[in-house]
Amino acid sequence: MFKLLRYFSLTSALAITAVTVVMVVFYHQSAVSELVASAETHNVSLARSIANTVWPDFAEYVSSVDEDGDNLRQRPETRQLHESLRDLTDGLPVLKVKIYNLQGLTVYSSQTSQMGEDKSGNPGFRTAMDEAKPASKLSFRDSFSAFSGAVENRDLVESYVPIQREDGTVEGVLELYTDVTPLMARLDRNTTNYTALILLICAALYGVLFVLVRRADGILKNQYLELQQNEQNIQAKNTSLEHEIAERQQVEAALRTAKEVAETANRTKSEFLAMVSHEVRTPMNGVLGMAGLLLDSELAQEQREYAQTIQESGESLMTIINDILDFSKAEAGKIELEETEFDLVPLVDNVVELLGSEASGKGIDLAAYLAPDVPKDLRGDDGRIRQILLNLIGNAVKFTSSGGVSLEVTVAGEPSTAAGVVLRFEINDTGIGIPAEARQKIFGSFTQADSSTTRSYGGTGLGLAISEKLVALMGGEIGVESEVGRGSQFWFTAPLKRKGGSVGTWAHDLAGSLRGRRVLVVDDDSINRRVFEKQLGALGMEVTSVAHAGAGLSVLRTAAQAGAPFDIAIVDHMMPDTDGEALAGQIRGEAAFDVKALILSSSSGQVDTDLKAQELGFDAALPKPLRPGLLLKCLNRVFEATAAHGGESVKRAPNTRAEAGTVFRILLAEDNLANQKVVTAMLKSSGFRIDTVANGLEAVEALRNRPYDLVLMDMGMPEMDGTGATRQVRSLSGSVSEIPIIAVTAHAMESDQKACLAAGMNDFITKPIDKAKLLEKIEFWLGLTPTAEVEHEGRDESTKVPARRSAQGHG
Ligand code: ADP
Repeated sequence: MFKLLRYFSLTSALAITAVTVVMVVFYHQSAVSELVASAETHNVSLARSIANTVWPDFAEYVSSVDEDGDNLRQRPETRQLHESLRDLTDGLPVLKVKIYNLQGLTVYSSQTSQMGEDKSGNPGFRTAMDEAKPASKLSFRDSFSAFSGAVENRDLVESYVPIQREDGTVEGVLELYTDVTPLMARLDRNTTNYTALILLICAALYGVLFVLVRRADGILKNQYLELQQNEQNIQAKNTSLEHEIAERQQVEAALRTAKEVAETANRTKSEFLAMVSHEVRTPMNGVLGMAGLLLDSELAQEQREYAQTIQESGESLMTIINDILDFSKAEAGKIELEETEFDLVPLVDNVVELLGSEASGKGIDLAAYLAPDVPKDLRGDDGRIRQILLNLIGNAVKFTSSGGVSLEVTVAGEPSTAAGVVLRFEINDTGIGIPAEARQKIFGSFTQADSSTTRSYGGTGLGLAISEKLVALMGGEIGVESEVGRGSQFWFTAPLKRKGGSVGTWAHDLAGSLRGRRVLVVDDDSINRRVFEKQLGALGMEVTSVAHAGAGLSVLRTAAQAGAPFDIAIVDHMMPDTDGEALAGQIRGEAAFDVKALILSSSSGQVDTDLKAQELGFDAALPKPLRPGLLLKCLNRVFEATAAHGGESVKRAPNTRAEAGTVFRILLAEDNLANQKVVTAMLKSSGFRIDTVANGLEAVEALRNRPYDLVLMDMGMPEMDGTGATRQVRSLSGSVSEIPIIAVTAHAMESDQKACLAAGMNDFITKPIDKAKLLEKIEFWLGLTPTAEVEHEGRDESTKVPARRSAQGHG
């Protein structure tokens, strides 16, 4: 760029010089032309005066002579002419005069030697002759003879001027030489001076331009160098960046490879774990089954203790193996969520019931609350929600030794729409708490808050890791807040869909008759009181709660005096000083209290039916732990508003088997750990012996090797599903092929149920499992209830009733 500018300045200087030269030449030329023109004018006017004065005397002579030079020089006319013309031009710058006749003969010349010359071919003469107009030119003569004698080095304007008559006819031609030497000298001088001046100006301009350009050049050069430097820097940077990128790409490639290797290793590890735990589980099923059989046989005290230890150790080993299996499945991304319609109320009730005995065994409270706007018909993986709840509530119970644990289910954020809802599950405990630094890591696999945890509380450190993975799969979040020594709050959210078109809430159908009713709660457990207040309030009741019998009586008394008696009193069974039974007596004894119904809330497990409660002076039993579904049903039963929903679960006498003195062995094939736990707990508490296997293959294996009375068969299981296993069982030899099989299915559709029966199953029950219905079906198929008394919904003509529908108990 800067070079171009230098060239440009040079070019412009040259151009200026050239223009100057052209201008000077042009100026000189035009000055010369002007000079010639003015000399010509001068010559023409002189010719005119010659024509007027001298010519008339010589016109004839001129036209008539035809002689050579020597003769002419001798002619007297020549001398006369010479004198007349010298006189006439005296004082004028005219140096020489010539006269030509019409033939171009030089008749006269002031330079006599030229006389007699033929000038007919001269262009000046021809112009004057032929066109009758003057013709002039500038010429330089180094020497010639003029009027005044010999002269040298003269600039002359030579004009050929026609001499014309009045009618315009040319009579002859005059040639006049006017001396312009001084004029030309001045012109040349001027031209030289101007040229010098212009060139000086040009030089000055060029000099300035040169300086400017040099300076610009310098600046540009610097800039150029800077730019070059920058470019070099940029190039250097580019090169280093390229290197960096190449290095990074190498690192990335290495990382990718490492990641792939790690992932493959992880997958292999997970698959290996899954395989190993599966392989270990099959013989463990045998160990547990046999230990169970052993326990059912006649044993000495010592032998029984040994067998019990085998069974308990086996069960905890199974729990660990199942946890590992579940975790490795989650790690390998092999857990797929199911989507079924389900009702959250029995799910929450079941989980809380399941963990209730552990809580009451430790002397701590356990209670669940469901917000009134929690929707009724949901779609999602209820099994996995149950698993997470069992995990979190199980932990809460495990790590709490006084106070209690509560579960609260609410709608998170946005209110539920017909399309879906996000539920928030919150588990609060008053246990040991978790230090801040441990809170970060407890969701990792095989991690516990501190290393002594295993010793004091057991566990594998996998529960939270699995829960976190499941919550993430569902699209929710999980978290914990905690204070050491005061307790922890674990929470998770679960986005769930709703059954198409459903808009109802869980309590909507049953809570209508409770609205505005006044209820008194007497319970010494603060957590129970809090949850009662919250839950009953949410159902629209007016709640008052007190911690002991004395306070209860005074509240009732005040209310009676105010003319606003309580409709209902819920009384805890075991309380210090006055227990529930005694308080009931006192309330019944005061007619003024006018309490319409008394409910006994007992955690002992002894008073679990209305009948038993009635024997103790109450109207109904509300067994603890406090469960929202159970509470709502109990209240409705008491108010006789919804008799259809009441009754059965409480009125049923659950221990028919115990009374019959027979132990029935049930095989549960179910892959979901949470469901396994729930069903096992339901059946164990009803006196059944129950073994669990995790898939169809294990079920067939177990049935081949050990005697069972009935199978509860989940439909969807890995390895071999429920229908496959049933077909295999039906094809076995011996009486085992006729064993009653009840399908446990997540699908309530008639077509699914028909498929169960078509596969050779005898009956089916839908998830979530209702304990009363389950017991009813099991009792029917074990022959404990006469056919006529039990109505089995959904069973049709194709239902297979085994030939031996009688008790085949062992023990
Ligand atoms: P596990 O209970 O089998 O050890 P988890 O993954 O369920 O495994 O829990 C990991 C650890 O987190 C526990 O060992 C315990 O240290 C801590 N933790 C979990 N829940 C609670 C709780 N409610 N209170 C105190 N500590 C808890």
